[in-house]
Amino acid sequence: MPPSVLSSASPFAPLAPPANALLQAIFASSDDAIVSITLDGIITSWNPAAERLFGYPPDEIVGGSLLKLIPLELHHEQHRILERLRRGERIEHFESRRQRKDGALLFVALTISPVIDETTGEIIGASEMARDVTHDRLMRNARAWLAAIVDSSDDAIISKDLNGIVTSWNRAAERIFGYKADEIVGRSVLALIPPELHSDEPIILSRLRVGDRIEHFETVRVRKNGERIAVSLTVSPIRDVSGSIVGASKVVRDISVQRDAEVIRRRLAAIVDSSDDAIISKDLSGVIQSWNKAAEQMFGYTADEVIGKSVTLLMPPEQAKEEPMILARLARGERIHHHETIRRRKNGELIDVSLTISAIRDETGRVVGASKIARDVTQQKRDERERILLLRKEKEARARLDFSLSALELGDWTWDAATDRMTISDRTADIYGLPHGVDRRRETLRELIHPDDRAAAQAAAEHSIQSGTDYDIEYRINHPTGERWVVVKGRPQFGPGGEIVGMMGVVQDITERKSVEIELRESRAKLQSHAAVLEQHVAERTAKLRETIGELEAFSYSISHDMRTPLRAMHGYADRLLRIYGSKLDDEAQHHLQRISANANRLDLLVRDVLAYSRVAKADIQLAPIDLNPFLAELLPTIPELQREGVTLNVHGPLPTVIGHQAYLSQIFSNLIGNAVKFSAENRPAHVNIRASQDTGHATITVSDNGIGIAPEHFNRIFEIFGRVYADKKYEGTGIGLSIVKKAVQRMGGQISVTSTVGEGSCFSFTLRTA
Ligand code: ADP
Repeated sequence: MPPSVLSSASPFAPLAPPANALLQAIFASSDDAIVSITLDGIITSWNPAAERLFGYPPDEIVGGSLLKLIPLELHHEQHRILERLRRGERIEHFESRRQRKDGALLFVALTISPVIDETTGEIIGASEMARDVTHDRLMRNARAWLAAIVDSSDDAIISKDLNGIVTSWNRAAERIFGYKADEIVGRSVLALIPPELHSDEPIILSRLRVGDRIEHFETVRVRKNGERIAVSLTVSPIRDVSGSIVGASKVVRDISVQRDAEVIRRRLAAIVDSSDDAIISKDLSGVIQSWNKAAEQMFGYTADEVIGKSVTLLMPPEQAKEEPMILARLARGERIHHHETIRRRKNGELIDVSLTISAIRDETGRVVGASKIARDVTQQKRDERERILLLRKEKEARARLDFSLSALELGDWTWDAATDRMTISDRTADIYGLPHGVDRRRETLRELIHPDDRAAAQAAAEHSIQSGTDYDIEYRINHPTGERWVVVKGRPQFGPGGEIVGMMGVVQDITERKSVEIELRESRAKLQSHAAVLEQHVAERTAKLRETIGELEAFSYSISHDMRTPLRAMHGYADRLLRIYGSKLDDEAQHHLQRISANANRLDLLVRDVLAYSRVAKADIQLAPIDLNPFLAELLPTIPELQREGVTLNVHGPLPTVIGHQAYLSQIFSNLIGNAVKFSAENRPAHVNIRASQDTGHATITVSDNGIGIAPEHFNRIFEIFGRVYADKKYEGTGIGLSIVKKAVQRMGGQISVTSTVGEGSCFSFTLRTA
């Protein structure tokens, strides 16, 4: 209803109702509150609508100030209005706020007109018509809000009519699809649907027509640039005031990112699960929140056993103090990289781990926890320690090797078959007269070898490679300072398939040794030629000597032999003189004749023995096996000494068969038995024993007696020619007997010795080979 001008002659109009009945009716039945006021703002009339609107009955308000209806903060407004009214101005559609009796605030639209006294033409008051616009106002606000929401939504919000024509298009739709509102409004939504999905649209539209709402329908749409995007649609029908469906609103959410995020989340979860590293998350108080499979394996706890417990569970007591430090660093937003520490397994075992810890933040960026990647580095640590140990050992070995090489003045070298490079040590370079630190081909080194030795050196190396054996060769090299000698030893190196991969070896300068060797060889050659000359001389002299000796022997033999005939004649004639003419001679003449006979006899014995010795010494003999048993049985009866009275001889048989010579053996036994009887003790009868003992290949034969014995100082002398203990006449003899025995034993390859005790007896032992 348009506000109307209500004129009133009286300031107390309601008490005096207007004369005009029509106006009266309007006043009473108006939907708008109609209030009259004085120019001071005092209420003078109050219609029923005013009572409904503001809650005051007329008797409570008429005569009171209009300010009662106006919120305090708007009182100034009222003053300005009254001023304008006084100037005769009319105020139309002025929106303001009013307060009801119950305190509620109302939005009102006011139309205020001055009331003019018809007679005086003076402004005497005003009528104020107020309409409640609270609902309109709220609706308007709501629409504005809605528009703002639609505009600021991250989802595309699109409306379309039932023919599928786009009717509205928000900012997010622009962003998601790339069309500006004016490019798409009025066009078919098919522009947004990929051709292969066009058939979906009629189905959606038919569902909408029956009032269905389609929620979170995941499908694909096309952007203006043709790109496809994954979207989630929620489509709701739009109804008009009458409730009939006139279109649809569509909320389109771009879920490509979300879908990517989901894929990433799943992928991450799979990675976490399949990771070999333990991945653990905890909150800021150190309480474990998640626990992957590798963590179960590494620490021995299942997820159920540890989630909700403190991470200190995994720390050995001495490491637990780390945790507050770690938490403090995380709270500061630091990331901890490869922190190496020790953790404890469920079974108490300690393990070396490397931790990488990152803060977990919520969407506002606040640190709320930490994720921890733990890698078991126990083995790695062990390997590391072993590697260091190995390196140290290697270094030591290298140092030892270097020392040995330098002490032995050896240079070392390696040859790599693949590259044909020789790597040579500084000493090797020095030996060859090359600069240090330069690797070279095998061929270039070979060229340094003396041309005469080159082929042999190469052959030795090739043979070594072929046979897999070490090589060791000496050759000359052309050193810048002149020719030098080196010895090179090498060992081939083979790969797993038996292929040659290289060689290594040592080299030594042997020039000095070589020159000494050469000198030595020359000296030896000289010496040998001297020796040969000398030997020649010796041989010549020996031959001469033999000749002379032979001559002398023959001479002495013939002298000795020839001496016996006149000696025997002298002896014979002396004996005949004594026998035939003895009685005619005086005693002195007889005595002289006896002396001649005895001395001739003695000289004959001497000559006989000398002859015997020289026979034994010189004769060429043939040795043969001789059984001593029959031999002695035959010999013993011919030994004159054994025929003497009181003499006994015992042979302790059986005796061995020896390798010997009949005549020599006769000489030996005759002499030893003769002496045993000759040197018997005066006070007891002579008793002689012959014994034999046998060893492998040898026999020792002893002839012992119980005679006068021999003092040890004479043991050697008695075996010499003319060596005797007693020079007197008590014991006849020439002193040659034992010399003959010794010589005979020696010539049969044996040895003789004596043991004796003076006054008790002697024992002569000699050895012979047995058959
Ligand atoms: P001869 O018997 O002619 O003196 P031998 O050469 O046979 O010469 O002996 C040298 C010396 O050895 C003897 O003179 C004697 O003094 C001593 N002799 C040898 N055989 C015995 C023995 N069986 N008992 C003691 N003395 C002995």
